[in-house]
Amino acid sequence: MSGLVVIGSGAAGVSAAETFRARHPNIPVRILTTDPALPYAKPPLSKDFLCDRDTRLDLHSAAWFDRNRVELIRGVTVRGIDVERQEVVTAGGRRYAYWHLVVASGSAAVRPPVAGIESALTLRSFADAVALKMAARYADCAVVIGAGLIGCEAASCLAGRGVATMIVAAEHVPLQRRFGAQAGERVAKILSDTGVRFAGDTTVAAIEDGRVVLGTGETVEADLVVSAAGVRPDIRLAEAAGIATRDGRIVVDEHMHTSARNVYAAGDVALAHNVTAGRPIPAEHWRDAAHQGRVAGLTAAGFSAVWDIVPSYASVIDSSVLRYRGWGAGYERSRFVEHHNGFTVWYESGDDVVGVLTLNADDDYRRAEQMLRSA
Ligand SMILES: Cc1cc2nc3c(=O)[nH]c(=O)nc-3n(C[C@H](O)[C@H](O)[C@H](O)COP(=O)(O)OP(=O)(O)OC[C@H]3O[C@@H](n4cnc5c(N)ncnc54)[C@H](O)[C@@H]3O)c2cc1C
Repeated sequence: MSGLVVIGSGAAGVSAAETFRARHPNIPVRILTTDPALPYAKPPLSKDFLCDRDTRLDLHSAAWFDRNRVELIRGVTVRGIDVERQEVVTAGGRRYAYWHLVVASGSAAVRPPVAGIESALTLRSFADAVALKMAARYADCAVVIGAGLIGCEAASCLAGRGVATMIVAAEHVPLQRRFGAQAGERVAKILSDTGVRFAGDTTVAAIEDGRVVLGTGETVEADLVVSAAGVRPDIRLAEAAGIATRDGRIVVDEHMHTSARNVYAAGDVALAHNVTAGRPIPAEHWRDAAHQGRVAGLTAAGFSAVWDIVPSYASVIDSSVLRYRGWGAGYERSRFVEHHNGFTVWYESGDDVVGVLTLNADDDYRRAEQMLRSA
């Protein structure tokens, strides 16, 4: 019984499956996923969930999958794609034929090459978040490696839970690579107001029992270490199947078609052509993954759809909500505008706005949408 097969139960995979199902009530739809949990939202894991605030994680109930006849096969890893026979094969050797296939295998956490790193926790899945929350209950002091979005969010939650927390990062200020120095300084202030200490311009040299050795030679006590050093899209399946990849992602057009017949890719793993930007845009955000999954599901179902939204996401550090909208990679200059209680950073290249970051400046955030579309 071939039909739609989806690899991965994140935003992209679930969205592809539900979109296809809505168009074709009788064709088999199957999701194969390594994750043992019912599909869930990832953004709250480093925010409300870790901070112990009320939140709903499930994307759909188990009954929804039954009712909609979307077969969800959990705890199974796909090891290969046979594009000639139109089959996928699992680690256990089971083969599933597909008519259309959506690869939505997402990203995996990258651990820096540091002695003792295997004892550090990562935060990529629900299981990771549960493990981190439990460890935090028994920890007095923590070191978070990396000052990206997830590192900053997790550190503020840990501090909020009463764990003395330090972020260690190669950047001078948090989020500098992504948002620039001025925004980074503001984030550093927000973090320090929540009680997080920040050690910038340094790295972790080793993790030892109960402590972390910094590149400077200084040691910091830590009974909990979180590695938040970034993620890498998992393209091994595509590479082994001979599907075209570039810059560490699976190349897809605006309809999410890969180079292989009836195979689509969506979400973090895809390098998709965005018709509004007029070029391929790497995106590692929840809303984009869901939108790309929808486009893949519609295309597989025989309908016309393209990825055309401007990427956006929000980050919550303590009670501060940073909102970003834009094309992400690279800008020539940034313009920092101070507001009462917040700020806007305009990122520009040539005469065009290519991104905007706001804190308590929703009007600018809204205004940017039109600017970015017409750039
Ligand atoms: C803690 C955290 C907080 C985040 N916060 C935000 C935020 O605030 N805003 C935002 O926009 N984005 C945020 N993100 C990023 C966002 O969650 C991702 O961009 C999004 O989840 C990507 O969706 P995806 O479906 O492409 O991949 P994923 O969500 O990574 O899902 C991939 C799926 O594929 C499965 N899989 C992988 N390999 C295989 C295989 N070989 N066989 C079978 N199954 C496989 C995995 O088990 C998983 O189910 C956050 C991510 C994390 C981890």
